Amino acid sequence: MDFKELSYFEGNIVPSDQAKLSIQTHALQYGTAVFGGIRGYYNKDKKNLYIFRILDHYKRLINSTKIMQLQFFKKPEELVEITLKLVKESNYHENIYIRPYIYTSALQLSPRFHDVKTDIAIYILKLNDYLDTKKGLKTMVSSWRRIEDNIIPTMAKASGGYVNSALAKSEAVQNGLDEAIFLDSSGFVSEGSAENIFLVRDGVLYTPQLSSSILEGITRRSIIQISRDLGYTVVEKTISRSELYVADELFFCGTGVQVAWISEVDKRTIGNGTIGPITEKIQNAYFQIVTNQSNSYNDWVTQIY
Ligand code: PMP
Repeated sequence: MDFKELSYFEGNIVPSDQAKLSIQTHALQYGTAVFGGIRGYYNKDKKNLYIFRILDHYKRLINSTKIMQLQFFKKPEELVEITLKLVKESNYHENIYIRPYIYTSALQLSPRFHDVKTDIAIYILKLNDYLDTKKGLKTMVSSWRRIEDNIIPTMAKASGGYVNSALAKSEAVQNGLDEAIFLDSSGFVSEGSAENIFLVRDGVLYTPQLSSSILEGITRRSIIQISRDLGYTVVEKTISRSELYVADELFFCGTGVQVAWISEVDKRTIGNGTIGPITEKIQNAYFQIVTNQSNSYNDWVTQIY
């Protein structure tokens, strides 16, 4: 089925090749933007596309503008409406990734958030796996520390902060690995370059708390709820580096990465080097929910057609 490459740009839905910014754009110089990443899953049996937790993603995006003081006045519900219209008009019948960002759009100098015009742009990509969810991921604890809340607020998904992620990701990949794990400025486990992390030990799930300089992931929140509904205990706490090495199971979660298990950290095999039973159960539940094959959690997905 044919799809159209459309974007939302300067208040209109336009062909993506017409959505162009000036090289003088403020955000391009200073990273003064906030963004989101939302997935849509195509269910071939139901011949329909389902967007995962779109309102929650836009609530976080608007919270990001609040933290950074970006002057932006649309409500999350309005952004949901614009996005659903864009997705529908684009006519995708496959898995997609939606990238909205709110940026300082003025052609101006001087890094600041006050007194500078902003705008929102939204584009869509076809996207299946971002990292392999079937084979175990090989990881390292990054030599780069995670930015902290008093340096660049980590609860805001702020573009400039992703310089930190890029350094860690490149270091990991250039060392022949798949992904990096950040420690926070106190030396506790924080998150991956673009994903949250969970570990399982003696049947209990643990994940770094919000004060460990993590992004408050929508997937993280979903995994906490799914795990508790499956009867597991989930604890949000500070996690030390060596707890990673002795975990029975370890996995990343995030919109891009989905639920992807980790086989190795710093050359140490995690568990017995295969996907753990609890991770597998959670991963299965997650994929069922996002593709709307589950009888519950229907309010987490928005049907497009
Ligand atoms: N941490 C970081 C740094 C991220 O970039 C992402 C991806 N948005 C996540 C965690 C996971 O967040 P979410 O589940 O909302 O995609």
